[in-house]
Amino acid sequence: MKRYSAFAIAREALRNHTGWERAWASPEPRKKYQAIIIGAGGHGLATAYYLGKNHGIRDVAILEKGWLGGGNTGRNTTIIRSNYLQDPSAAIYEKARSLYETISQDLNYNVMFSPRGVMMLAQTQHEVRGYERTAHANALQGVTTEFISPARVKELVPIINLDGPRYPVLGALWQARAGTARHDAVAWGYARACSDMGMHVIQKCEVTGIRQEGGRVTGVDTTRGAIDCDKLGIVVAGHSGDVARMAGFRLPIESVPLQALVSEPIKPCMDVVVMANTVHGYMSQSDKGEMVIGGGTDGHNNYTQRGSFHHIEETVRALIETFPMVSRLKMLRQWGGIVDVTGDRSPILSKTPVENIYINCGWGTGGFKAIPGSGWGFAELMAKDHAPLCEAFGLERFREGRFIDESVAAGVAH
Ligand SMILES: Cc1cc2nc3c(=O)[nH]c(=O)nc-3n(C[C@H](O)[C@H](O)[C@H](O)COP(=O)(O)OP(=O)(O)OC[C@H]3O[C@@H](n4cnc5c(N)ncnc54)[C@H](O)[C@@H]3O)c2cc1C
Repeated sequence: MKRYSAFAIAREALRNHTGWERAWASPEPRKKYQAIIIGAGGHGLATAYYLGKNHGIRDVAILEKGWLGGGNTGRNTTIIRSNYLQDPSAAIYEKARSLYETISQDLNYNVMFSPRGVMMLAQTQHEVRGYERTAHANALQGVTTEFISPARVKELVPIINLDGPRYPVLGALWQARAGTARHDAVAWGYARACSDMGMHVIQKCEVTGIRQEGGRVTGVDTTRGAIDCDKLGIVVAGHSGDVARMAGFRLPIESVPLQALVSEPIKPCMDVVVMANTVHGYMSQSDKGEMVIGGGTDGHNNYTQRGSFHHIEETVRALIETFPMVSRLKMLRQWGGIVDVTGDRSPILSKTPVENIYINCGWGTGGFKAIPGSGWGFAELMAKDHAPLCEAFGLERFREGRFIDESVAAGVAH
């Protein structure tokens, strides 16, 4: 595949853009692959990419029931940060964040990583103590964060109201190299690189059954016929319970809608990401000028990819106290995705009761930021049956009571 470069842009400008190749191929499924990944979201595609790049496994198909990136990857609000409390979380999220720094060069695809800084407001004394503790933990983990004063918050975000009547701003946990990236470009960049390695990204191909013999996977049934494989990775956020059921095991997760909305575009007014977890709202400004707004999950399980209307009202109401300017914004559009949430708010990256089936799920409301690190670790797990980044995230932790409690870092936050 031809590389994208400044020279290529100039060349194509001169010949009316007739020489661009398709970014990825659309092949017919083969009868058999060494490895199949179900789900062409960011995590599935990144897993395939690192299987090829780090482990030389390139006989891989990524099967997607819709279009690639059309699940949560293309619906999220793109916050990237790694200021988690527990060591295994900090390790995998910081690996991901550091890969994001150079991923555009690595994939030869501009994912528009913007390390503009993320702040998590402390609006109760409890949060002040919690975030101070996280800042200390991050220092020990080698993750650069700091607890900043209200005056510094105001300096970074002039439009903020520090003196809200219910929840004044008492400080914030600040990660200067956190930020955002263009969500669908992450999926497209990985897909293009996988296709370039000879892997098959197969869209409109829903997995409807998982075949096994003697406790070992042999292949999958799909809407485009049966396909055999030696190894199978299930990476289908929001549908993990459903697909696990096809393989004959249950998962300790719930599927719930999470929604977001954007305002009309306005002049640049905020160049960092702000999360207000006490009131359940967060906001950033997109490159187009829209204010990107999100809140917590809906309180009930469903698969509709919509979310309930009253939740939008709650989220906007929550933000108005801290950002009075929001009350004068017109909202442009709203959408939802289905996220799978575990009891300890940490993901599952694990072998399963069926030999050679591996599962990557449970990223809940915050898995976009983890895509490169998760793909890196999960590919190693699939290739070698063991991966240091994934070790703590096995399914057995729910049986053994070894939870990785991130409810403060990930309960509402993204
Ligand atoms: C509104 C919203 C805001 C969010 N904000 C953030 C944020 O700011 N920061 C952050 O880090 N995270 C955020 N997230 C979470 C993040 O989007 C997800 O954790 C992440 O995208 C999960 O990626 P994935 O690749 O695992 O899943 P997905 O992108 O959902 O991909 C799974 C794919 O599997 C496919 N699939 C399912 N069943 C089958 C089947 N039977 N056969 C074939 N294919 C199948 C689906 O069609 C889908 O494309 C947000 C999520 C939402 C919904």
